[in-house]
Amino acid sequence: MVTENLKAVEEKIEAACARAGRGRDEVTLIAVSKTKPVEMMQEAMSAGIVTFGENKVQELTKKQQILTEPLNWHLIGHLQRNKVKQIVGKVERIHSVDSLRLANQIQNDFEKQNLTADILIEVNMAKEESKFGFMPEETEDALREIATFPNVLVRGLMTIAPFVENPEDNRIHFRNLHKLLVDINSKNIDNISMNELSMGMTGDYEVAIEEGATYVRVGTGIFGSRQYI
Ligand SMILES: *Cc1c(COP(=O)(O)O)cnc(C)c1O
Repeated sequence: MVTENLKAVEEKIEAACARAGRGRDEVTLIAVSKTKPVEMMQEAMSAGIVTFGENKVQELTKKQQILTEPLNWHLIGHLQRNKVKQIVGKVERIHSVDSLRLANQIQNDFEKQNLTADILIEVNMAKEESKFGFMPEETEDALREIATFPNVLVRGLMTIAPFVENPEDNRIHFRNLHKLLVDINSKNIDNISMNELSMGMTGDYEVAIEEGATYVRVGTGIFGSRQYI
């Protein structure tokens, strides 16, 4: 199932890149494997996937002990400050930096091991009460602060768009996140030069690619629906 699903997702990514006049190599597919067994991840690996997204530290580190081949692990879910030390040196990107206190914790824990964290700043574009993330209008000030942290490198912005029936309804949020990135980059803040936009999930990744996504985070579309126990 995973192999066929991946083929369909890949075709849609290629078509969206073509529509947007973008190269396929500008977009990285993150296979979101949360709650799914390593056997399914191995099937995805056989089909060429090397980048996985997990939303829980414990699940991520457990799977890393089993899947020891070189893979790119991305933490995409809300991160508690007391868990940061467990992922130092273990993840390629943290997508979900949603507060200054968390950024500060990342600075401290990575500094202790002399490593730099590559992070994305989560922005709550639709201003949903239920969601984590900076409000769009507070993002620049937060970035100016985080830019002074020597062991934290901000690579870009991330958003989790609302759940919608029609993916076109989220186009405005993706477009606005892209605008926010261009706007902040244009201010030439020291140590801030962001290239990455993590946006789009199973329901709306094609629209996100049309609006400039460099990372799409696809779970259900690859591994099927999740059951939470
Ligand atoms: C679960 C999750 C996804 C994947 O969602 P699907 O709709 O299953 O593709 C993407 N991003 C984040 C932050 C998630 O937690």
